[in-house]
Amino acid sequence: MTTNLLDFDLAGLTAFCEGLGEKRFRATQLFRWIHQRGAADFDQMTDLAKSLREKLKGKAHVTALPVITEHVSSDGTVKWLFDVGDGNAVESVFIPEDDRGTLCVSSQAGCAVGCRFCSTGHQGFSRNLTTGEIMAQLWFAEHALRKRLGREERIISNVVMMGMGEPLQNYTALVPALRTMLDDHGYGLSRRRVTVSTSGVVPMMDRLAQDCAVALAVSLHAPNDPLRNGLVPLNKKYPLDELMQSCRRYLEFAPRDFITFEYCMLDGVNDQPEHAQQLIALVREYAGNGGAWCKFNLIPFNPFPASGLLRSPANRVTEFAKMLLDAGIVTTVRKTRGDDIDAACGQLAGDVKDRTKAAERMAKNRVIPLAQV
Ligand code: SF4
Repeated sequence: MTTNLLDFDLAGLTAFCEGLGEKRFRATQLFRWIHQRGAADFDQMTDLAKSLREKLKGKAHVTALPVITEHVSSDGTVKWLFDVGDGNAVESVFIPEDDRGTLCVSSQAGCAVGCRFCSTGHQGFSRNLTTGEIMAQLWFAEHALRKRLGREERIISNVVMMGMGEPLQNYTALVPALRTMLDDHGYGLSRRRVTVSTSGVVPMMDRLAQDCAVALAVSLHAPNDPLRNGLVPLNKKYPLDELMQSCRRYLEFAPRDFITFEYCMLDGVNDQPEHAQQLIALVREYAGNGGAWCKFNLIPFNPFPASGLLRSPANRVTEFAKMLLDAGIVTTVRKTRGDDIDAACGQLAGDVKDRTKAAERMAKNRVIPLAQV
């Protein structure tokens, strides 16, 4: 079996090339051909010695994931469903904006965290993606879009690890992928433009701060432990106090001077004025001597039947945002993109051969909105 070179960051590819008896700089050349120029055919890599190209053909390949479907939204958002084998498929979404192009990347086939408001969580968990499968999403999207748009310069300027899966529960595969995104010989993305979104895997947040401190977004969704336990089950293991302290520690290494808190607005569940007040108190409690240290991104929920939850009315979202803003907390309301192709936040579902019986368990433990009590 030959090795997929998308599995390596530059250090890994260097070790691989040295194992073939090649000099280190050859790995850099190869890395640039793959990631900067989108080459998969070794014969295209004309500045590599013919002998190396022949060696590579016998031992390695550069292979994207098979595309099952591609949908393009009326707003330009593109969603791909990639086959990762054994009946599993993962999704990636490209979101074009005037000043940036963002790719939302999946890290797992399914997710074991089981957040109540998340389509992926309801599907359960099958397996972690490899580094190559994570990178294949970016590699394919970047070079397919360049060809389609007839452009030579970079299209994807931002990556958010917010697709299917909890990236920090797939840490070993995640970190080399992040390093490839940041590497000047790879995609050369700034650390500020690569975001890992986590539901709060505290020990891994601390490790990420040391190993590859990119921007951090935390799926908060509730201002107190009892409510968060019901919405984000991982909170029972790493409750709010531990999570907030870890966020504060991360800030010392983060490329930005704030942590983003994602907050999905659920009708009658977490969108009341008292929830906003509790959030304000929480932010102040962990502010230390500093002032602003976080910002909030309020996300209009994208309802799906199995969740039993509804989207908060627009005026309630506005009032909630105003309370936070009036307290001096930077708050934005996320625009919904790709709604017509189910590519909006929390809607990524792919196909998951669940090994965890998550759907059954979640149906038993539904969160009941106040409005239905
Ligand atoms: S929100 Fe994220 S961590 Fe929670 S179930 Fe969905 S993919 Fe997993």
